Amino acid sequence: MTILVLLGFFFLWLVSREFRRPNRMDSFTITYTAICFTLGVLCMIPMVRHLQLENFLEKNAEALTDGKEVHLSCTTALESMFDRFGAAGTGNPYTGKIVIQYPYCKYLRGFLKNPDNPTIHELWSLNTFTHEAMHIRGEINEQKTECQSIQRNHVAAVLLGLRESTADRAAIRYYKELYPRKKDNGYYSKDCAPGKALDEKLPDAIWQRSSEKYEGFGRWRQN
Ligand SMILES: [Zn+2]
Repeated sequence: MTILVLLGFFFLWLVSREFRRPNRMDSFTITYTAICFTLGVLCMIPMVRHLQLENFLEKNAEALTDGKEVHLSCTTALESMFDRFGAAGTGNPYTGKIVIQYPYCKYLRGFLKNPDNPTIHELWSLNTFTHEAMHIRGEINEQKTECQSIQRNHVAAVLLGLRESTADRAAIRYYKELYPRKKDNGYYSKDCAPGKALDEKLPDAIWQRSSEKYEGFGRWRQN
């Protein structure tokens, strides 16, 4: 995207250069300027979509943070390559800053576009969004943060525009299938279960809902 944006600025600079010339434009120059303008705008579209996604995620993250202000950014592919932490995202409760790495913002966009049949990575990306919002609420213990996230993934998905039943299925699938895979990395706790120590007893907690919604969810999409 960075290269496209630079290219976009270059084309728009070519346009501005033509407008700064003192002579009247002939038909060739008008065509040339129009082509440069079109190319400039086309190159800028990914950046506009990127900013729109950041803005949309930031606004909805704030609905999960008990009113705490959120500053959310999705890194570019280039920034992700130089990321030092190697995590899908980070959330800083002291600054309110959430950073989601490029692939996970891309997966999240894909999930929101096609929520009925998500890939494993798309479900990870939903939980990344919710998990980082839980950090902004003030929790820094990873096991507790993850369990808070599990208890709100369906709420987050609805905020992001999913139908309630689809959001439920995604959240239940994350809890039942993907969460146990975190057993070795410090995020998993056996106390993250109904009636256990990390159960917040939320009236709408995902594990209180019917498991029928989980049945027949279908196969993972492979890409
Ligand atoms: Zn975390």
